[in-house]
Amino acid sequence: MLAHPIRHALLAFALLAAGPALAEPRYSFQATPGKLPKDVVPSHYSLRLVPDLQKDRFDGRIEIEIEAARAVKTLTLNAANLTFKSAVLATGGREASLSASFDAANETVTLAPASGQIATGKHRLRIDYSGPISKHSQGLFQVPYKVREGERLADKKMLATQFEPVHARKMFPSWDEPAFRATFDVAVEIEQGLTAVSNMPVLRETPVAGGRKEVAFARSVSMPTYLVALFVGELDSLHDEVDGIKLGIYTVKGKAEQARFAMQSTKEIVRYFNDYFGERYALPKLDQIALPGGFGGAMENWGAIVYIESRLALDPANSSLRLKQAIYGLIAHEVAHQWFGNLVTMAWWDNLWLNEAFASWMATKTEEKFHPEWRSELRRMSHVEYAMAEDARKTTHPVQTPVEDDSRAMDIFDAITYTKGEAFLHMLESHLGEDAFRTGVRSYMKAHRFSNTTTADLWHHLSQASNEDVALFAARWTEQPGFPLVRLAQRCDGGQAFVTLAQQRFTLNDPQAKPLAWKVPLTLVAGAQERHAILLGDTPAQTRFPRCELVRAVKPGYYRVQYDDAAFTLLVERLDKIDTAERLRLLADTFAMMQAGSADATRYLRLVDRLAEEPDRVIWDQIIESLRFLRGLIDAPADRAAFDRYAATILARPFAKAGWDARQGEDADLPAFRRSLIDALGRAGDEKVVREARTRFSVRERSAIDPSIRAAVLNVVGRHADAPAFDALLSMMRGATDVESKWQAQSALRHVLDAKLQRRWMELLLTDELPPGEAVWNLNHVAYDSDSPELAWQFVRANLAAVYAKASPRGRVYVLPESAAPFADAARADELLQLTKANLDAGALYEAEKTADWIRLKAAVKAREQQRIVQWAKDHARR
Ligand SMILES: [Zn+2]
Repeated sequence: MLAHPIRHALLAFALLAAGPALAEPRYSFQATPGKLPKDVVPSHYSLRLVPDLQKDRFDGRIEIEIEAARAVKTLTLNAANLTFKSAVLATGGREASLSASFDAANETVTLAPASGQIATGKHRLRIDYSGPISKHSQGLFQVPYKVREGERLADKKMLATQFEPVHARKMFPSWDEPAFRATFDVAVEIEQGLTAVSNMPVLRETPVAGGRKEVAFARSVSMPTYLVALFVGELDSLHDEVDGIKLGIYTVKGKAEQARFAMQSTKEIVRYFNDYFGERYALPKLDQIALPGGFGGAMENWGAIVYIESRLALDPANSSLRLKQAIYGLIAHEVAHQWFGNLVTMAWWDNLWLNEAFASWMATKTEEKFHPEWRSELRRMSHVEYAMAEDARKTTHPVQTPVEDDSRAMDIFDAITYTKGEAFLHMLESHLGEDAFRTGVRSYMKAHRFSNTTTADLWHHLSQASNEDVALFAARWTEQPGFPLVRLAQRCDGGQAFVTLAQQRFTLNDPQAKPLAWKVPLTLVAGAQERHAILLGDTPAQTRFPRCELVRAVKPGYYRVQYDDAAFTLLVERLDKIDTAERLRLLADTFAMMQAGSADATRYLRLVDRLAEEPDRVIWDQIIESLRFLRGLIDAPADRAAFDRYAATILARPFAKAGWDARQGEDADLPAFRRSLIDALGRAGDEKVVREARTRFSVRERSAIDPSIRAAVLNVVGRHADAPAFDALLSMMRGATDVESKWQAQSALRHVLDAKLQRRWMELLLTDELPPGEAVWNLNHVAYDSDSPELAWQFVRANLAAVYAKASPRGRVYVLPESAAPFADAARADELLQLTKANLDAGALYEAEKTADWIRLKAAVKAREQQRIVQWAKDHARR
């Protein structure tokens, strides 16, 4: 699964304490955590569903073949929000009615015969039931959308499912934990004109009374419940084939052609993975479905991957290279899951990282293989910064985190699971070698296909392939929280360079953190030729270079590097001679040390000063983000204005080169760079940029805004909007028939600075105009996007009951933390915690504590650095 774009301040975490054990056992079904007893297991489900979109409800019948390993008094399985009409147990020729008692908190149901026991052996459980079609993307849910029919906009609805991690139980009673694999027959009764897609190909369509039909799908392979899927709607499709596997892409009417790029990419990716994993894709078909809303990212349902439309369909009139890269990367991530996750599944949510980190790592690897010009490695490094910002704080957790209760499984879909895990796999592959790593992965796939694993199983196969004890190297990275700071000290003696390396745990605000050490693979370089590979352990290491030259740590890894002062000065002097990855690393490390209090802000700002001629977008994205962080530490409006002038001064230099308009033969990355700069200059209130953005917006009907900068132009217009501009953006959102345009208009509206208009936007979000999940997401992000969190915070506080009523139970957890995240005052952290305790149960507190910690961190940096930053800005702004 890949959810909404994540911001570092806003990530979920779950800490159920427990120190690292550093010795996880290999998979065994019986030892796998979970709520459900393991003495009764399902082997097959037959599901028949009859949805009624008028009533927002569905009727269902499920028949489950089960086997009891011993005689039991009751059966316990999962069910949530379902109403049972009957539950019957068939054994041989006899049927017995079962009573049902529900446990809403645990989302389970316990079934019992009127008397006696359920005997050892095989039975068939049949349940007739009904349930609601949700407005949130949990279980079976509806997606409202608009299509243009001639002159008018018509309202339509599509049906979709999202089951990971714990929502299959909202559509059918089931053993809804990943280790309970079974096969599935799915059938659905729908209207004649509609199309249904599920995991497997359609087996038959049979007419049913009332102009309806039953669509039955072929029997699935053995899989966990969270991968079952069903989609129903007025759909168009595109079809192709690769290596004998039928490929389909389904969109709403009229958009199938926009999926050509996705189809081409899928063919390339599936062929590569068939080879890489050494196991062919396991199903006869692979469909991908574009959802016109209601959902943030993508989900790897086996054979029926679903995406938000804007991350699968590509409108040629509204697309950019950046969007293509996003689509390609997401397809690669989800298709990788067809092996890592689907064919071989993590035993329990504490090993979610096996799924997610591997899929993310594989996506980057695929991009680098087929599109090296995209320089995905650099983008990956920028993402790693988000994970490291999380991982250096009190509230971090290990990649492998105990999840005792599956209702908390969602907590670990975060940057540490995805991105730290990915960064670690990258280091591990590079440490073991590409061939040994792939051999290990292949043998892991072969040994565990159609089954479950723990991380220890992967280490086992990688160890065999590499003749190295991988667990020994890996456990510290996946079972311990945090990461190392490597101190690199060098001196010259007798014409030689002597280098001492030592590590310590790096934290931003946790001086009491438990001291930990890692095995850190480093590559040191001196001059042009000399390279040393070192595996730094618990004790300091020393190495010697034959000439007296500056020694640098060059290979990107999941750690920070601190040079001694003399080396740092030399490095800054040679900034333009080192490559982009190293420059990015130096900038990011220096900024993090400023946040941690071991360097002051001017050390970072001096670096920025040296980068006036920097050509690379990823470097500027780092700078733009850092400047935004620093601006958030400034209290007085006049000082903020001074800082804005300084930021505009800094960004004007690269923007003068990038310009507003694309030129023939320009660098492929330049449009995305241009967009970042326009956005940031508009944020800084640069008059020329604001004027030009307004002009382009006002003539957009005659002369369309270049799609590669459209999002930024709208944000600038939104930020400085008056009432007519606000209304224009609003009608743009209302008239949108594609997700990307709708989201761009919403983003612009979240940027509005004018207090009255901001309030109008937030009031509109409390109405039923948008689907509830989308409305809440927008409300939560007004504080951050507008850079004026006070108004948004007060509004959310005053309307908290109404916002909670709109949010899903999981969504409620994020409302206050996301609105409070932009603050940099400790008092706000306290307020956030108090409000959370007063309004939500204990499960919501983790998210609030994490944001409170982030706010306190900023407050501490503010106390140290505010005056220095303001002075620097005044001294360095163009007058
Ligand atoms: Zn995923």
